Amino acid sequence: MCGIVGYIGQRRAYDILIQGLHRLEYRGYDSSGVAIINEEGSLNIYKSKGKVEALEHYAENKDLSGNIGIAHTRWATHGEPNDINAHPHCSESGRIAMVHNGTIENYSVLKEALSNKGYTFVSQTDTEVAVQLIEYIMQTNNCSAFEAVKEATKRIVGAYAIAVVDRQNPNTIIAARQSSPLVIGVGEDEYFIASDATPIIEYTNKVVYLNDGEIAVINRGEELKVYDCKSADESKIEITELQMSIEELEKGGYPHFMLKEIFEQPRTLADCISGRISADGKQVTLSGIIEHKDIFLNTNRIIIVACGTSWHAALIGKHLIEDFCRIPVVVEYASEFRYSNPVITKGDVLIALSQSGETADTLAALEKAKSAGAFVFGICNVIGSSIPRATDSGCYIHVGPEIGVASTKAFTGQVTVLAMMSLLIGQMKGTISDSKLQEIASDIRRVPTLIKEIFKLNDQIQELAKIFTYAHNFLYLGRGYNYPSALEGALKLKEISYIHAEGYPAAEMKHGTIALIDNDMPSVVIAIKDNVYEKTVSNIQQVKARGGKVVAIVTEGDTIVSQMADYVLEVPQISECLTPLLTAIPLQLLAYYIAVNKGRNVDQPRNLAKSVTVE
Ligand code: GLU
Repeated sequence: MCGIVGYIGQRRAYDILIQGLHRLEYRGYDSSGVAIINEEGSLNIYKSKGKVEALEHYAENKDLSGNIGIAHTRWATHGEPNDINAHPHCSESGRIAMVHNGTIENYSVLKEALSNKGYTFVSQTDTEVAVQLIEYIMQTNNCSAFEAVKEATKRIVGAYAIAVVDRQNPNTIIAARQSSPLVIGVGEDEYFIASDATPIIEYTNKVVYLNDGEIAVINRGEELKVYDCKSADESKIEITELQMSIEELEKGGYPHFMLKEIFEQPRTLADCISGRISADGKQVTLSGIIEHKDIFLNTNRIIIVACGTSWHAALIGKHLIEDFCRIPVVVEYASEFRYSNPVITKGDVLIALSQSGETADTLAALEKAKSAGAFVFGICNVIGSSIPRATDSGCYIHVGPEIGVASTKAFTGQVTVLAMMSLLIGQMKGTISDSKLQEIASDIRRVPTLIKEIFKLNDQIQELAKIFTYAHNFLYLGRGYNYPSALEGALKLKEISYIHAEGYPAAEMKHGTIALIDNDMPSVVIAIKDNVYEKTVSNIQQVKARGGKVVAIVTEGDTIVSQMADYVLEVPQISECLTPLLTAIPLQLLAYYIAVNKGRNVDQPRNLAKSVTVE
């Protein structure tokens, strides 16, 4: 959550910071701010509640000069989103300014100790406590900001990525991280800091990913130095070349990133599959699995940990792996798993599923499993992010930057990788026949084309959305492979339209939820031709018998459901295990158009942020 940007170089820092905040706004957007040291050595801080636009408006006609600065777009954890709680925060004397992503768990103890020493606080944030602590250390130890930040990291408990400037040293930014991401862009005589690479790519493709427990000293005109906070040893700097392009970060003519990302799926899935399935469909190649063949051949159990949409993809992964590999799979919410007492034995494989690769709970769950001896495997989108770096092996989904807060292309990318993975492990174990593998792998290759077909439903879905824009509640029903699709469809609607929606296994409905059905509560039923088709048809009848309206997603050519449902959306025929990749598309579009009709801010829904790097 939240975005940090920093700049030191020859250009006007403000422009780079604001542009960077816009790029990172998807991570958090309840307030934002900048701190810039100008040529005369004044530290100017401008902050505003609301979007980055509000900050720009506020900063108009102010002194925006200076070529060193830090900035922040916030997703509040401590204290309401207002001008005062917005970052950057300042130390008592006004000398030190800091931006922070994450939470400081022992902030109240530290705050009390500092208050007893006479410090006063203006905000309710944990961040202000940390910046005051840094100044306190500087004063008592008579040391530099670098030494003080290093010392402070030993006293702070929690998750943080921070960037600090010192008014008395306009040539240095200090940055440190523990469990929250931070990337440093290395340009010609200039450096950039950001929570992810998106603000950096337009200036340089050379980046250094800071590791947990590291502190960076970024001196103007000098080489970047990185140290271990505890040992003070200098770390070896590894420069990574970014593969991302600017076009991927723009809306490309679409009104929202979410719509762009929905329509991008034929291409992103083609990228995800590229080089991984042979043209004849007989061979699946995922090096992260092949290199650890023995582990996957011998494991007795796979645990998948994830949150939100990724958790839904994980549920589909369970079906896939159990069907084709005959390995028992448990799917856990990462946030529950990390604080539970799971029985993990050597030989267990834990898969961490996360678009951003930074999800705090998933990362912690992974560390827990790793320390208990499990083999940890990551499935992520953001290259070089924390989860891929913490795992033994893994596989990227390669769908490009996902900016819309409601995940779309990452979901289908995750399901595609899980499908390829289950085929490959099944082949290695001999639990899937060659012909079955070829049939499904060839179908995976058809998915991008079939999704293009489904886009022909766009106008129909747009019309349908008008009918249901004013519903207060929705039910999403599905079975088997499409029960997780129902959960995901409901989540999409909730996230961006703020309409209450519940996803349910279709048959479970009659154990309680059916009591809610009336003609004000539409049901979206995924009733494709699978092995439980007839059962789902009965569930539709049960809804209809109680006066409920039904939108059904069916297989092309279906004549039975189309007679009972009020509205029907057809998707092409494909192997049953891949149907979630197709049914996801009308569900995404339906949620999108309902949210647009309601006038919601689709890309930045209230209270949400893209990558959840806090608990
Ligand atoms: N805990 C800090 C706050 O509430 C930072 C939150 C964030 O990551 O945006 O201000």
